[in-house]
Amino acid sequence: MSESDFDVERIRADFPLLARQVHGKPLVYFDNANTAQKPACVIEAVDRFYRNSNANVARAVHTLGEEATAAYESARDRLARFINAPARDEVVLTSGTTQAINLVAYSHVLPRLQPGDEILVTRMEHHANIVPWQLVAERVGAKVVPAPITQAGELIVEEFVARLSPRVKLAAVAHVSNVLGTVNPVAVLARECRRHGVPLLVDGSQAAPHLAIDVRALGCDFYALTGHKLFGPTGTGMLWAKRAHLEAMPPFFGGGEMIREVRFDGTTFADPPHRFEAGTPNIAGFAGLAAAIDYVNALGIETIAAHEQALLAHARAALGAMPGLRFVGEAPGKAPVISFLVDSAHAHDLATLLDHEGIAVRSGHHCAHPLMQFYGVPATLRASLAFYNTHAEIDRFVAALGRVRGLLA
Ligand code: PLP
Repeated sequence: MSESDFDVERIRADFPLLARQVHGKPLVYFDNANTAQKPACVIEAVDRFYRNSNANVARAVHTLGEEATAAYESARDRLARFINAPARDEVVLTSGTTQAINLVAYSHVLPRLQPGDEILVTRMEHHANIVPWQLVAERVGAKVVPAPITQAGELIVEEFVARLSPRVKLAAVAHVSNVLGTVNPVAVLARECRRHGVPLLVDGSQAAPHLAIDVRALGCDFYALTGHKLFGPTGTGMLWAKRAHLEAMPPFFGGGEMIREVRFDGTTFADPPHRFEAGTPNIAGFAGLAAAIDYVNALGIETIAAHEQALLAHARAALGAMPGLRFVGEAPGKAPVISFLVDSAHAHDLATLLDHEGIAVRSGHHCAHPLMQFYGVPATLRASLAFYNTHAEIDRFVAALGRVRGLLA
């Protein structure tokens, strides 16, 4: 399907929230990298679960218990296929990327970490892919080392590779930067990591809504993603890991659902992935996430990417024509995330004034302090696009930005 055949109005009709007004104006939602809106099929799947099937998972033999378990497990099936995982039981269901990364930090990295060891990340990481590593590193006198990036916002691959010393116990990189939109060359990084015997974790939070993901082709060891950016409910996500890693990992959270037998003289644990899924999960949320993945698959990720790339080109051309506007992040082939600065106007002031025009963009550090430090700015304005956005919305946004910056001049 070409971009001109993409029936965006029909798609928008699937998203009830997109029809609302904000401050008396039709909403333009350009904060998709923060969280995405949900199609009716996701809202209905959550609603249907609570109306018809609400019960706990993997505990009851009654019909509702079986339906609840099936709804929950259906998300594991969808996720495994979505990332082309070799097996569904390599997918651990989590509350999101943050929990997935913490699980790897405490269960995979910490037991292996010695004083002086390193965890290699990049300058462009979200705090969720920095702070968990710092917390475990501090416990043993290890450290987190960032690989540098260029001013354009691209990882300097040779510098990353140069840091893959025997001290590095894990490397962790974003597939797509939430601030810059940069798509990192994960397959190349994974190959280099393998050559140096370093496991690679990929933070796929911002890749999942925009790119086809194939963990086998990427060749990484761990892949994390979050459901709410993928048009699913909050409090859902996953960690995929190679089976050998999962089998070697001790549990991180203890409780119900993750044991084989509990005895006061020694408890034994369930096999992965259930070993890592203690307690009652967000069952309704996972029913919704399964519906979200079906929705995305039905549209087709290539179709989505073609529309988004057309939107990105339009937005960059229109914004680039504005005097005094500076892009932050200009890597070729980037995802539809546009960070920028306007003259001396503060990003928060611009975002507040844009909100009065009905336009939702994010301002701030985007949970990426080290990246802001690199660029020497406290904050950027960020417009992040999804497949339901339109060219007309971009025109409205650019016109509104022109007006509001005038108010601040
Ligand atoms: N990593 C990246 C690149 C992100 O953009 C985000 C969310 O903004 C996260 C991790 C954290 O995701 P969550 O808060 O859903 O766990």
